[in-house]
Amino acid sequence: MRDPRYDILFEPMAIGPLTAKNRFYQVPHCNGGGYRDPSAAAAMRGIKAEGGWGVIFTEQTEMHHTSEITPFIELRLWEDKDIPMLRKMARAMKTHGALAGIQLAYSGINGPNMYTKEVPLAPSALPIRTFTNDPVQARAMDKSDIRNLRRWFVNAAKRCKLAEFDLICLYGAHGFGIFQHFLSRATNQRSDEYGGSLENRSRFAREVIADMRDAVGDTMAITLRVSLDETIGELGFSNAEVRDFIAMNAELPDLWDLAQGTWEDCSGPSRFKEEAAQEALVRGIRDLSPKPVVGVGRFTSPDVMAKMIRQGTLDFIGCARPSIADPFLPKKIEEGRIDDIRECIGCNICITGDMTQAISRCTQNPTFMEEWRRGWHPEKIATRGDSENVLVIGSGPAGLEAARALSLRGYDVAVAEAREAFGGRVARERLLPGLSAWGRVADYRLYQIGQRPNVQMYPGSALSVDEVLDFGFQNICIATGAQWRADGVSRQHVMPMPKVGALPVFTPDDVMEGRLPSGKVVVFDDDHYYMGGVLAELAAQKGCDVTLVTPSAYVSDWTINTLEQGAIHRRLIAAGVKIVLNTGVASLRADGVETNCTYTDQRGHIACDAVIMVASRIANDGLFHALRARQADWADAGIRSVQLIGDAAAPGPIAWATFAGHRYARELDTGVWPDETGGDWGDTLPFRREITELAVD
Ligand code: ADP
Ligand code: SF4
Repeated sequence: MRDPRYDILFEPMAIGPLTAKNRFYQVPHCNGGGYRDPSAAAAMRGIKAEGGWGVIFTEQTEMHHTSEITPFIELRLWEDKDIPMLRKMARAMKTHGALAGIQLAYSGINGPNMYTKEVPLAPSALPIRTFTNDPVQARAMDKSDIRNLRRWFVNAAKRCKLAEFDLICLYGAHGFGIFQHFLSRATNQRSDEYGGSLENRSRFAREVIADMRDAVGDTMAITLRVSLDETIGELGFSNAEVRDFIAMNAELPDLWDLAQGTWEDCSGPSRFKEEAAQEALVRGIRDLSPKPVVGVGRFTSPDVMAKMIRQGTLDFIGCARPSIADPFLPKKIEEGRIDDIRECIGCNICITGDMTQAISRCTQNPTFMEEWRRGWHPEKIATRGDSENVLVIGSGPAGLEAARALSLRGYDVAVAEAREAFGGRVARERLLPGLSAWGRVADYRLYQIGQRPNVQMYPGSALSVDEVLDFGFQNICIATGAQWRADGVSRQHVMPMPKVGALPVFTPDDVMEGRLPSGKVVVFDDDHYYMGGVLAELAAQKGCDVTLVTPSAYVSDWTINTLEQGAIHRRLIAAGVKIVLNTGVASLRADGVETNCTYTDQRGHIACDAVIMVASRIANDGLFHALRARQADWADAGIRSVQLIGDAAAPGPIAWATFAGHRYARELDTGVWPDETGGDWGDTLPFRREITELAVD
């Protein structure tokens, strides 16, 4: 069944005293659940075991109370009390013969200690380096602090063993772990034997690993995760120094785990980073040490993976996002089901779960972090309830995901789409600069639907109420999407923006349909996700003289959560876009826009020939309401339920739409939707949650 080209991915490989069953290595990744939702996180890891990963890691685990990164929710191992939660996770990981790994993080110069109120400890006394510039500084560790920290690592290692983990990864990448803080001349400015030369800067890592080996090394493997290049300029731990460090300490860990730069560098979205983007930085490192090497690169193609191993660049294929988008990726390669792989689109919505301390979502895999909460399995779904068929109206992410999952349940499904092309918003957004990989949302679903005999697809079918009533489907799923507003209503303006004169206004829909302004253009971004920045880039590419105006202090503000805000700003500067921050558009004038300062309301004027208005969207819910108004006719038409989902219910990111489509399909005929209950719903929580146990005293 398996293509022999991929056999190399299934060869076992030793890591210290242990052997991984194959080369699929799920590197540590956050999930926004962490210590708040430990059973949800454990079940998510358990699904990866079932999906065939050879090595599975936790997210970063704060290993001592003197270093933590509140508000971000990861795992904690501060005392024995934390062991049962972690053991639950380790056991879930090991269910199908995978090795279970735990990543230990001592955050040093990255840990503001907002929760424990401890003074942060770091190699040198500097301000804490976080996303939020917390006004906190660290104290430089003295020799006794270093002795203590070495002991805390040993204590943590013993607890990891009690928790039944196989591997420990020491975090020294992304600027987040103390090992990097010691290795880098930027964060280690010591003049004692722990600072100065590379040998001295390596001392801390050598000592900790030696101590841990003494404590648990007979049965556990110890890996070290370092960044391939710190990417912070001359003083940073450069790629050349990383190579010197590995050559100098060739036998140090049982495996080298190579990440890249800051987290933004390492988890670059597809808009800015290709698959295998780190290859040049990794190549040759494997020859410097006898220990195996794992590297990442948003690998979704088995050919690229096999090439990485065959050409001797990597021993293990490290995946975080590809394992989120498809936890069954290894199994599908093993079973020769390459076309069934649900490829990561590189949108970084999963990361927003961590950045916002919510629980993570995945655009491609709506079951992510719902394995325990809702009992959703990415590859299994219950057979249908007592109705038989569904008409899905609209073939965007919501409609296609609903149709795919409904067909697996065994419903007869018809998908009606007004346009000739299926895919809704992604059919158009995939054509925007940098967003081509987003088309995978539609491609994956259309291919899967195409394999099913019970789905009929009807392009060019804009349905009216009468047609829907005539068709005789039992369930109507309305996923008709949304349109961008031209009137400026969003956050600055909750009522239409005042307009004097006839300045041409283009919406993102106009631009995506190919109607582009020319000359001097103002892009007004009061949406704050990617669209404003992308359209400014596109207009500049097309030769417009572009000024992007936004009331926010940042271009594409919300993309801080997808780790691409800096890259977007850089790209717009390179494209020649003028950026005007902290500024609204008070009104549209015949010859330009009247601006206002967000803080003082001081008015200004920017002359332009046209405005691209990136405001909010308005749901296409007319068909739904018209059908509701005809509820008296439903019984005669054989209709049992009419449900509004996705952007047509409330516009949001694509991941919200795939979740809505999946949820609709899972829950149809389970008695939770208003039409199944006579209008009542919401009295019970629709998912399980974990509640902190009350202390006895
Ligand atoms: P979502 O993100 O919620 O899936 P999209 O906007 O991506 O929403 O997709 C909605 C799709 O529904 C669009 O392709 C649109 O052409 C289609 N559509 C809208 N109204 C109708 C209708 N009355 N009949 C059939 N298709 C429709
Ligand atoms: Fe990939 Fe986006 Fe899913 Fe993250 S949310 S795993 S980037 S598809």
